[in-house]
Amino acid sequence: MLENDDKKYVLNTYAKNYTNFVKGKNARIFDENNKEYIDFTSGIGVLSLGHANEKITKTICEQASKILHISNLYVIEPQVKLAKKIIELSPYEDGGVFFANSGAEANEGAIKLARKYGEVKKVKSKKIKPFKIISLNNSFHGRTIATAKATAQDSIHPLSFAPYPEGFVYVQTLEDIYKSVDDETLGVMIELIQGEGGVLTFSKEEIQKLASFLKQKGILLIVDEVQTGVFRTGAFLCSQVYGICPDIITLAKGLGGGVPIGAVLTSHKDIFTAGDHGSTFGGNYLVTATSLEVLNILENLKDSGILENTIKYFQEKLESTLKKYPKIFSKILGIGLMKGLALKDETQLKKLIGFCLDEGLLVLKAGKSTLRFLPPLSISIEEIDLGFKRLDLALKNFDY
Ligand SMILES: *Cc1c(COP(=O)(O)O)cnc(C)c1O
Repeated sequence: MLENDDKKYVLNTYAKNYTNFVKGKNARIFDENNKEYIDFTSGIGVLSLGHANEKITKTICEQASKILHISNLYVIEPQVKLAKKIIELSPYEDGGVFFANSGAEANEGAIKLARKYGEVKKVKSKKIKPFKIISLNNSFHGRTIATAKATAQDSIHPLSFAPYPEGFVYVQTLEDIYKSVDDETLGVMIELIQGEGGVLTFSKEEIQKLASFLKQKGILLIVDEVQTGVFRTGAFLCSQVYGICPDIITLAKGLGGGVPIGAVLTSHKDIFTAGDHGSTFGGNYLVTATSLEVLNILENLKDSGILENTIKYFQEKLESTLKKYPKIFSKILGIGLMKGLALKDETQLKKLIGFCLDEGLLVLKAGKSTLRFLPPLSISIEEIDLGFKRLDLALKNFDY
């Protein structure tokens, strides 16, 4: 019935599973038959505080009972408070925030901000306007026309959706960036851990070298932290783990703990002027009040040392899984609670995820061969144990 209606009325853009989830609590989630699952996905890194967090529920209900929405033509108190909180947590001494509703929208905002920065720079120097944005093989920046084109994967911007906006340049490796920059280069857009690409990290030295090269050349560094941001890697931003301060940072996924919100952070506060950019829903009372509460709770998780313990424990569990199944996995990928296990035989990935689901465990795919883990940052030791017990059962049944 549900499946039939989904197929009849919802456009077919996802290869989806038809388990009907009806409720959850932290890292546990239940389907309509009351079967329990451990959620190692957080809805692709969205539910940073898991399912049905009491404080978040209370914040949402209280805010909804007062005021949900006005428009950005009026000041919005929780939006101002959230922007202040984000900047205080960020490496920016003097930065500003624009609020959007998703990762792709945050990246759209970042691209517009960068393009206008190029215009301002051109006027100042009276030369060519830099406009090219370099992005990296295996990246993922979103599904709008511009962010799909910014994504250096042909499958995300096939010719069927052409024409696309101009000005996006793709390189294979970080090293290639140095050879690709010219007078028209405006910025470099990267993820510090390529999430959709397969949970692929870069070395700190490589990133710091790139950041200082770009700074010296006056080229913008745009870091897409839609997946890595908001304590996912243990620090508020992955940029802080790497010890860099990019010109522009985008956030989304985990920022709202389940409500749709995206953000553009920048030190270049004087580029946008009134009318340059906007969003009807962006930064409304509902999402910003919720996000502010999410950040307060997450900051507490970090400052109390609980988050670090959880990360350590999760890593230990991954290490013993790798040790126990050396024929299936080759290595552990990622940082913090953004982790992956690289599968030796990528043709088995889909099957393994299905086995996990049967055992009551939700896990994700990333790239071609990565089993990806994005558990809630609030996951308990008991829930981690249960999840890995079920992963073990799935792996035992797995013929290899
Ligand atoms: C998920 C993701 C996006 C797109 O976010 P949406 O909210 O789906 O638009 C962009 N960049 C990265 C790195 C992501 O992981």
